[in-house]
Amino acid sequence: MEYVSDMIRNLPPYLFSEIQKKREKLEARGTDVIDLGIGAPDLPTPDFIIKRMINEAQKPENHRYPIYSGIDEFKEAVTHFYDKRYGVTLDPKTEVLALIGSKEGISHLMQALLNPGDHVLVPDPGYPVYTTSVHLAGGKSVPLPLDPTNGFTPLYDQVSLSDKEKARFMLLNYPGNPTAATVSLETFREGVAFARENEMVLANDAAYDLVTFSGYKSPSVLQVPDAKDVAIEFGSLSKSFSMTGWRIGYLVGNENVIRALATLKSNLDSGQFIPIQKAGATALQSNLETVTAYSRIYEERMEALYKGLHDLGICVDKPKGTIFVWAQVPSGFTSAEFANLLLEEAGVVVTPGNAFGAGGEGYFRIALSVPKERLEEALERLRKLSWEGDK
Ligand SMILES: *Cc1c(COP(=O)(O)O)cnc(C)c1O
Repeated sequence: MEYVSDMIRNLPPYLFSEIQKKREKLEARGTDVIDLGIGAPDLPTPDFIIKRMINEAQKPENHRYPIYSGIDEFKEAVTHFYDKRYGVTLDPKTEVLALIGSKEGISHLMQALLNPGDHVLVPDPGYPVYTTSVHLAGGKSVPLPLDPTNGFTPLYDQVSLSDKEKARFMLLNYPGNPTAATVSLETFREGVAFARENEMVLANDAAYDLVTFSGYKSPSVLQVPDAKDVAIEFGSLSKSFSMTGWRIGYLVGNENVIRALATLKSNLDSGQFIPIQKAGATALQSNLETVTAYSRIYEERMEALYKGLHDLGICVDKPKGTIFVWAQVPSGFTSAEFANLLLEEAGVVVTPGNAFGAGGEGYFRIALSVPKERLEEALERLRKLSWEGDK
């Protein structure tokens, strides 16, 4: 008797489970494993957000089902944030939707937009949730190659005519996971033009919009004139406010797309707990001081790691944002081989680039979600390793 659907059985294999098994074996032998594979902040949620949550959780009127699309205070806070940060005007009633984390929104949006067999352009390398959510919605994901020689911007001319015709939806992700790529508004302008020309919806996943370094300010796709005709943007409080476990995010932009997802969600979930939405509103309305302080911590870690890798002869672009460094594996190794070497010989977990799509082969991703001392320790272990080529 088979209890799972073909859809679940045919999900792509979880690439990290192999690494996990090896890691457990090493730890059983007493190795101190440094895990640089985790793509989530290690810093705590700022206190002022927790305080609001506690306060609101004590009020009985907040214990009920919320309004499906999100409470007014949260949607107005998102509107306020977009106006202040990007100079983008949104209607909180029709152009903002509260999400139970952006991953939930991304995955459900596929179901709200796709008919069976519809194509979706997905950045390659990219966040694995994109391809799995297309699969779960019965669509077909088509890799949108990114140009490693040009800051991992999309290579639209490598998308075939037929894929362009069949695609209803395309995703971008800047600042990007896993590449840590950041872009100028011009990249979004090209994306909006491409989506318009080929009659598809364009979504930017802005999960790292506020995690940026040395004065760089990430643009919003909605800053492109008339972007709302075709574009939407996913936002998340997970990374910028260290709120991964709270499950709060939002979708903004094109009102037809927002309505489609709101309709689906009203049949699926009943929205996020009201105190969490209120705490999220407080975060977005804040002066972003803690975000700046946290970004500085990631930047310091990044600087230490960047210098260390550079000294080891590993090629890496210095990122202007995100909690990742995307580095090239030394010649003579595949991504998987090199990640394996680091784990087995140095007790350091990194994520092999091919876990993010074929375009990630030749790279590995290092997360900045451990204290600087741990990164220094990892670098020290790498120095003691020997591999072919210069060090
Ligand atoms: C972490 C991450 C998300 C998920 O964020 P949640 O709001 O916690 O679901 C979405 N996109 C990218 C690229 C991420 O790295």
